[in-house]
Amino acid sequence: MDDETFRTWAHRAADWSVDYLAGVGERPVRAQVAPGEVYRRLPAAPPDAGEPMAALFEDLDRLIMPGMTHWQHPRFFAYFPANASPPSVVAEFVTAALAAQCMLWQTSPAATELETRVMDWLRQMIGLPAGFAGVIQDSASGATLAALLTARERALGWAGNLEGLSGQPRLRVYASAEVHSSVDKAVRIAGIGDANLVRIPVAGPLHGMDPAALEAAIRADRAAGFRPAAVVACLGGTSIGACDPIEAVAEVARRHDLFLHVDAAWAGSAMICPEFRDLMRGAEAADSLVFNPHKWLFTHFDCSAHFVRDPKALTDTLGIRPPFLRTLGQEGFVDYNEWSVPLGRRFRALKLWFVIRSYGVEALRAMIRDHVAWARDLAERVAAHPDFELVTGPILSLLSFRYAPRGADDLDALNARLLARINDDGRTYLTQTRHDGRFVIRFQVGQTSTTRDDVMAAWDAVREIAGELRAG
Ligand SMILES: *Cc1c(COP(=O)(O)O)cnc(C)c1O
Repeated sequence: MDDETFRTWAHRAADWSVDYLAGVGERPVRAQVAPGEVYRRLPAAPPDAGEPMAALFEDLDRLIMPGMTHWQHPRFFAYFPANASPPSVVAEFVTAALAAQCMLWQTSPAATELETRVMDWLRQMIGLPAGFAGVIQDSASGATLAALLTARERALGWAGNLEGLSGQPRLRVYASAEVHSSVDKAVRIAGIGDANLVRIPVAGPLHGMDPAALEAAIRADRAAGFRPAAVVACLGGTSIGACDPIEAVAEVARRHDLFLHVDAAWAGSAMICPEFRDLMRGAEAADSLVFNPHKWLFTHFDCSAHFVRDPKALTDTLGIRPPFLRTLGQEGFVDYNEWSVPLGRRFRALKLWFVIRSYGVEALRAMIRDHVAWARDLAERVAAHPDFELVTGPILSLLSFRYAPRGADDLDALNARLLARINDDGRTYLTQTRHDGRFVIRFQVGQTSTTRDDVMAAWDAVREIAGELRAG
């Protein structure tokens, strides 16, 4: 493609993107296609000759767009957000043009040094003390894996890396049942084993782990000859937003010299608002904390902010310097590939820099405050409605509810049917979880372009569809 053609289509892509985002609210939120529908409409073999870009854009609109679920839709209240914003889109475009591989300092010094700087901005923004060093990981899953590998090696005096795990003491990791499945996955990949992930019971309105039960489990494990290695605390669990009492958990972890990792993937972004920081009290004592600006801080996937107290423990665990990756004749830099599992790294700091500078911290806080306020507002309405039951929350901007009209039986099946109808309807998109053995509908507010009216319109749709369902 020559420069002028590239320019034409780059402009076209920019116009397409602005039009898409301006009109996304008119589309059904969740894709309405059946499985296999998109696949069948695509040619079975690749083209031998190049095709014009106009044909590609036509097929983008015709074949691909009907199969998209619109995560940037103002009435997307499913899962957790994967939000973005115009400055982040622009930065991602520039990042794509640069297409730099930022694995070493010298493969792009500005990418490394900007990352160090914006991660320190983020540290200040969420109120973590100086002394934590930050790195951008590809995902919270990747950060949690890096943390648990570090915890493993710390507990084994780095013998696991050298000798492998066979013949080593059996390690134990502690977490509540509310932590994300990425913890289970990391425990597997780290060779610790499912059976050594010990579940600590939860209690209280925040569904946080009971520190006394944690203490008892660690003591019992030690007595039984296990080697306790780490605690994973959750700050805003994925199911219903559970928050562990981090201060008390950290005290137990410190007493037993265990590594403490805090998974704040979703809720961490809200910590830029000082009034919500009660939830993270004690996190300054953690060894590691991750949160995802790519969830709720208006920055594109992938951007997971991982803070560690002792970067040397992390790089001793993951850093490998083969001769072809050595930087000769330079000192005083970091090579972030030594902080993570993958070697290759996108230039991820640029979008964060664009977002933070373009909005300013106060405007970012205002958006998150609105989301939390609207979720509270909605929760009051749900609780006040005779046919609905507020099941959990709101914890920050996440609540769960179910439809429970008088006289109805099998509420799990009724709510599953209601949810399917809501999502087929297209005005909004919600997802489910199980809480205390019951099927519940989750509702989280966190999209960049969401307004209070969108939240209330979704609630109107829920009530209307529930009424129709009841009427048969
Ligand atoms: C979303 C989520 C994760 C996983 O995040 P990825 O960045 O997709 O790996 C982990 N923990 C919690 C609490 C989450 O909500």
